[in-house]
Amino acid sequence: MNPIPYGRHHITEEDIQAVVEVLKSNNLTQGPKIAEFEAAFADYIGCKYAVAVSHGTAALHLCAIALNVEPGQKVITTPVTFAATANCVRYCGGEVVFADIGPNTYLLDINKVRELLEASPKGIYKGIIPVDFAGRAVDLETFRKLADEYGCWIIEDACHAPGGYFTDSKGTRHNCGNGDFADLAIFSFHPVKHIACGEGGMITTNNEQLYHKLRNLRTHGIQQIPELRQFNHGIWYYEMQELGYNYRLTDIQAALGISQLKRAHEGLKKRKHIARVYQKAFEGKQFIKGQSAVVEEHAYHLYVIEVEDRKGLIGYLREQNIWSQVHYIPVHLMPYYRQFGWKEGDMPNAEKYYKHCLSIPVFPTLTMEEQAFVIKTINEFYA
Ligand SMILES: *Cc1c(COP(=O)(O)O)cnc(C)c1O
Repeated sequence: MNPIPYGRHHITEEDIQAVVEVLKSNNLTQGPKIAEFEAAFADYIGCKYAVAVSHGTAALHLCAIALNVEPGQKVITTPVTFAATANCVRYCGGEVVFADIGPNTYLLDINKVRELLEASPKGIYKGIIPVDFAGRAVDLETFRKLADEYGCWIIEDACHAPGGYFTDSKGTRHNCGNGDFADLAIFSFHPVKHIACGEGGMITTNNEQLYHKLRNLRTHGIQQIPELRQFNHGIWYYEMQELGYNYRLTDIQAALGISQLKRAHEGLKKRKHIARVYQKAFEGKQFIKGQSAVVEEHAYHLYVIEVEDRKGLIGYLREQNIWSQVHYIPVHLMPYYRQFGWKEGDMPNAEKYYKHCLSIPVFPTLTMEEQAFVIKTINEFYA
């Protein structure tokens, strides 16, 4: 049997043709595919504006700059995420303050965030970065209320959750990244995520001012709206108004993204189906200590189980060519963050979760036979 990874991208003949078309065109970068991808993605998510960038980490970095993160400022985030979520604060010299997760949702616990905010004078904390971890949407309505009380902005890290959603107190559905509550949201198009560009990222927002700022920052801080330039030397003129970066996506990547986005809904349905099969297979099993709650709202970037003897199981699965993975080693325990004083015991829920968690295969092209083999192998290990 071929190796079964925990996640895998899927490239069709149509995807390949879309990329080839760009390769034969006049624009490999800064061409028409970027605006087309941004419009299609904004439509899929249901937000006003989208800005395509070179990767999810660039998206986070630009968001932190656009929200004026500076040395000395504190920003709250979860330890159960990819390091990039926290790192964007450090790129701008800000201080990362971790708050623990809820033991069942695996999401940033709003009560822990509230405790932090209440313990300091207003204005110390500038922002909150919740993560729709594994594909499960954060309830941003309640986070927004809390953030407003303390004058904080919100960046929603929605890398795991294109197509995920939550339902607010009025019964309205909010797609992850739709910009109704968060100031900015970010996505990644790394091949392991729902939509693959090779490398790629997107920022979504409903805030027009931030949108224009992000577009400038993506291209060296060069003003993209000619009317807003201070000078004009002639038709060749461009004007750099602030310090930006080259964080552009190429048209080659955007073409792949547009083509992939057309199958996003289909892929999401398949992920949910796989999750339900796992849920049923492991119901009532003694070795299962916890499991991704199966909910319709979930986007299932990851399917996480918590088990006894995780180390033994991961090795046993590897022998059978099943490449499960651990998401994530808590960020506060990385040597880089330990230098700021973070240590074992600081985030009890995240650390307990880390001891037992395992991401088992979930991706749209996982076959029924492959999934049955994964389930059988896990059951065998504990038999
Ligand atoms: C993948 C990921 C990122 C970073 O995205 P890249 O495109 O790899 O830079 C950030 N946050 C989370 C939660 C991710 O899963």
